[in-house]
Formats: sequence, structure tokens, C-alpha cells
Amino acid sequence: MQGSKSIRNIGIVAHVDAGKTTITENLLYRAGVVKTLGSVDKGTSQTDYLEVEKARGISVRAVTTAFEWRNTRINLIDTPGHVDFSSEVERSLRILDGAVLVLSAVEGVQAQTEVLWHALKYMGIPTLFFINKIDRIGADVDRILTEIHQNLTLNAIPVQKVEGQGERHPIVTDIFTVQNRNDFKCERLWEDLISAASEQDESLLMKYIDGGNITINELKNSVMKLVHSCRLCPVLYGSAIEGIGIEELANSIADFLPCPSGAEDGPLSGVIFKLERDKSMGRVAHVRLYSGTMVNRDSVFNKTKNLEEKISQIRRTHANKHVDTGVLRAGDIGAVYGWNNAGIGDIIGSSEYIPKEQRLAVPHLTVQVYNKNDGDYLRLAEALQELTDEDPLLSLEWLKNEREIHIKIMGTIQLEVLAAILKTRFGLDAAFGKPAVIYKETPKTIGEGFEAYTMPKPCWAVIRLLLEPGERGSGVSFSSIVRADKILPRYQNHIEKCLPDALKQGLYGWEVTDLKVTLIDGEHHNMHTHPLDFFVATPMAVMNGLVNTGTVLLEPVLEFRISAPQDSGGRIMSDLVQMRGEFEAPVLSNGNITVSGKIPVSTVMDYPVRLSSLTGGRGVLTTRFSGYQPCPLELGATAPRRGINPLDRAKYILYARNALSEQ
Ligand code: GDP
Repeated sequence: MQGSKSIRNIGIVAHVDAGKTTITENLLYRAGVVKTLGSVDKGTSQTDYLEVEKARGISVRAVTTAFEWRNTRINLIDTPGHVDFSSEVERSLRILDGAVLVLSAVEGVQAQTEVLWHALKYMGIPTLFFINKIDRIGADVDRILTEIHQNLTLNAIPVQKVEGQGERHPIVTDIFTVQNRNDFKCERLWEDLISAASEQDESLLMKYIDGGNITINELKNSVMKLVHSCRLCPVLYGSAIEGIGIEELANSIADFLPCPSGAEDGPLSGVIFKLERDKSMGRVAHVRLYSGTMVNRDSVFNKTKNLEEKISQIRRTHANKHVDTGVLRAGDIGAVYGWNNAGIGDIIGSSEYIPKEQRLAVPHLTVQVYNKNDGDYLRLAEALQELTDEDPLLSLEWLKNEREIHIKIMGTIQLEVLAAILKTRFGLDAAFGKPAVIYKETPKTIGEGFEAYTMPKPCWAVIRLLLEPGERGSGVSFSSIVRADKILPRYQNHIEKCLPDALKQGLYGWEVTDLKVTLIDGEHHNMHTHPLDFFVATPMAVMNGLVNTGTVLLEPVLEFRISAPQDSGGRIMSDLVQMRGEFEAPVLSNGNITVSGKIPVSTVMDYPVRLSSLTGGRGVLTTRFSGYQPCPLELGATAPRRGINPLDRAKYILYARNALSEQ
């Protein structure tokens, strides 16, 4: 039996084209999992198996694979590289104990590298840097190291030396593979590493100052501790395509990245971080187990869905081959079959042992989906419903009367991938409208909403609500101070239950958020109240309340960073002012200007094209979702009301009664 000490749950993260897939292939090959080396260029790699990935040569879906290395099992979660898939990157980052951030020795730090690094830092994930492609002409590891220090972190310290970079067969020597210090013919590297480690490690520092002889093992232990606490990031080099530096990378993963914690005999606690479909077995849930043990045929509690589901099988994924293991223990990752209600992000068992979810990005664009072949309209809606079940962030909205289908997205590349999935998995030809910004609303002030739904008889539901603006990002909360004899608890539940729907469209047609709703008064009637009356009355009380409080429009805002040649600085700054950007004083270095700050999604959405033409393609814009902020109504947009407005009481009551009685 393997304890969790011998497991590493690792992600290889990189911008598209840095060589992540080639590295994975080589790791699998060296570990003996695959007998022949696949190639991304020939479309034969083991891990890039989605058709769209093969066609475009990019990885867009996270894939789990595992291999054994020196008695350690390394679970590799291959994360997608493009920012548009950041919801998936986030979900996979959340379950990692460590990461390898890959850069190219020629292209260096890219905009996407920065986004990924920030995410790793924010989540406190111990990280190794791997500078790949050192065989390529133009490779310059010193320059890349400077870029890392300038743009990412000063804690990145090399633990290897490179000879012959830019040549077909460069040589990488690892500081920790030599027997003693004198065997390693690069004094500067050794000194740099010791001084970086002792800066943060008191006991090493004391020995260093005393002029004591620090052994390789002492240094190794110190580096390990510092990596675990994210205070040091070892920098490694290699050429994945030539298989150089790959064994050293595997060694470093086993030596420096932490093992998972959690007890196999503890209470069950896990999270579903990815879903797939298997042609014959149905839904496959990829689970990271933090505590406890699960075996085939166990009935397991899904806390998020509040139901029990039976496991039909537990497998481990080796690229696209699956091995039936029958058991999943704390600290490990496995594919569970038989859970047909499973969703991404669902919590299995208790939530106690699971790290908090860090929401880095939320979809802030909405887009209408069409089908090129009109007869497929229904199938398209059903397919998107299935995809939304797997990834709730897509938030499918299917307006049956208008025959419209809308989804929420993070960016436009996501559409390309969705189109490919709809084609390959469902045989559907989908097209998309122009993405539009999703605004929200929040109450302007405190106020009351009242509704006395007592006509036309038989009906009786009186509600008085207090609406209060909440903190930004706080969402919606509900409480009640009304006694059970005035409104029966089950009717109070009805009010709470239909609140999210009642808040879907505010005064300007957008979802209302960041508010506290308190039921302060009201009544049911022993004789006249019909079981569904409070469902009819609540939306009217809510809308009445919103009219009284008024609402403020909220718009999505991004954190941004632009770096561009200095001579385009003036025009960029005036563009930023025009786009309502808030930014700090620009920083000048080496003929480049760097500006960072916050900017609304609506104004910056099309800016990459202008920036590129302004700077001859040399300007780079990096963005990260920051949150929602108030926006003047005249600069935002309103959304057309869907369905009957509860403020139009007579019409709404008629409509709601019909709709509810049909259910
Ligand atoms: P990913 O997009 O990060 O998964 O990168 P891939 O593994 O698909 O590699 C992108 C391209 O870089 C492919 O054409 C690879 O053959 C090439 N590549 C990957 N690693 C190396 C390397 O070490 N040296 C060179 N010269 N090319 C590489």
C-alpha cells in the first residue's frame, strides 16, 4: 500500500507553445508509462487527445495522468494554457500541491506566464520554474532569469548550470546530483543558492556566517523547506524535445514539491475538479480526495447536490488509458464512474479538509448561440444543457418563447473550443453572436418592498421585505424576523427559494446582487392561502422594493498591465484615460513603458487590436478579472426585460398563476 507521502499532485502550467505537452510526453516516456515518444507536431501525443487540440496543436482541456518515479507516484494535471480557459485552470490549480511553471528559453516571460504566476502565488502553490527549449537558436537563460526576476519573483534561483545553450545537445548539470561542492564547477551558482537560501533560513544563515561547511544534503533540506513555504522557487533548464533535463525535472518534483496531507482513515472529504464523458460508461468525475478512502460500490454523499450516489468503478488515468484501481485514498486523484449527477466543483463528503475555492475569474461576457442548421435548434439547446451540467459557469439560458440560447463565457477563444466540442461530440454546427458585457445591479439605498396578494380570490400572501445594500462581492443573503404563526415556515421557505429568480432582472434588466433581504412582516391566511401564493407574491414584493431603493449599475472590471515601447506611451496613456482606466504612474525601463491599474471590460474588450497596431505588435496587454464596480448608467447598458414584469401586477399575476399551475 502506498502512503500519501509517496504521492505528488502536480500541475505543469505554461503559456501555449512553451512545451508543456512535450515535457509531459517525455516524463511519461522516461518513467516507462509509454513505450514510444508521441509528438505534438505529428498529432500523436498521448495527452493532447481532444480533436480540437490535435487540430490546433494546443492543449485546452485539463488532463490527468500519473507515473511512478523513484517510488513516488506523480499525478500530473495538465492544465490548459490560454487565459480563456482560466475557469478550468483555476479548478485544476485548486487541487495542486505544487506546480512546474514552464517558460521558453527564447520567448521568456509572456503575458500568460504572468497571469499563471499570479494565480500560483495567490493560491500559495509551491512552484519550480522550468526553462525549456535551451537547444533553440537564440536561447539565453540569463536573460530569461532577469525577466523572471523583473516581472515575476526575486525568489527564483537556479539549481542547475547549462553548457552549450542554443546547440542541439546542451548539457544540464544539477547542483544536487554532485557528491560534493568541489565536483560542481560553478562556484557562482553554488554561492547564489546558499546566499538566497540562508537569507530566509536562519539555521543555514548561522552556519554560513560562521564559515561552516554546508553540505549538499543540508542545502537540499533547506531548499525543500523554503519551496514548501513558497519562499524559494528553484529554476531548472531543459530541452524537452531532446529529452534533456527531464530526469532532473522528475527528481526535483519528487524532492522539492510537497506531498499531500490528510488521513486515509479520516472522514471522507474530496472535490470533483473535472468531468468527462465516456462513450460507454457515461459521466466520469475526476476527484481529488483530501481525507478518507473510497472503494468500488461505495455509496458516497455528494454534499453540493445533497444526495448519495454509488460508485461503479474507480480508475486511474494514464493519458487516455484507464486502469481499474477499485480504491481511492486520501491525498490521491482518481476517476470515478457511476455518478450521473456529479458536477464540477461538487464536494464529496465533508468540506472541512478542502482548501477554500479562490475565484480568480468569473464569466463576464454573454453570447447568443445559433445553429447553422435550423432543424438542430432543440438538440443544440440540449447539448449546451449537458455541457452546463458539467461546467455550471456556462450558465445556459434557454428562452423557449423567443427561441434564443445564451451562454456566459470568459473570452472568445472559449467559443472556438465550444464550437469544436459541439461538432465532435454532438455533431452540431454552432455559430455565435457578438459577445456582450454582463452588467449587474445593486440597491442604491435601504428600502422596503411590499406586496399584498389577496385578489383575485382564492389567494392570500402578504409580504414586507427590507432590502439593504451589501458589501461588494457579498452576493445575496436572506433572513427573517417574522414569527411562524404569521407566515408558516414552509411559506417563508418559498420566499427564500424564489428570491434568486426574483432578483435575476432588476430595474435595468440585470441580475441584482450584493444585498441583504430581510422578511420583516407579512401574513398567510389559514383558509385562503393557496400553496403556491408566496411564489407569486415574492417577485412583486422584490420589484416593489427595488423601485423604492433604486439601483446602481455595476460593471465588470479587470486588473491590467500594459508593456509597450516607450514612444507609444503617450498615446496609450490617453487611450487609457478615454477607456476610464485607473492607473499608477508608468514605469520606464530599457526603452519600455509599463502601466498597470484597473479598467472596465466594456472599454478594453477590443483594445488588443488597437494596441497591436499602435505598437507594431510589440505592446502586450495582460488582464485578470478584478470584480464588479459601480458604473454610471449612461456609460453602461440596459438589458431588455424577459417575460412579464412583476411591476405590471395584473398581467403578471395572471401569467404567474398559469405558469405555476402548469408545472
Ligand atoms: P504546449 O503548447 O505548451 O503544450 O507546447 P508543445 O509541447 O505542444 O510544444 C510546442 C512546440 O514547441 C512544438 O512544435 C514542439 O515540438 C516545440 N518544442 C517543445 N519543446 C521543445 C524544445 O525543448 N526545443 C525545441 N526546439 N522545440 C520544442
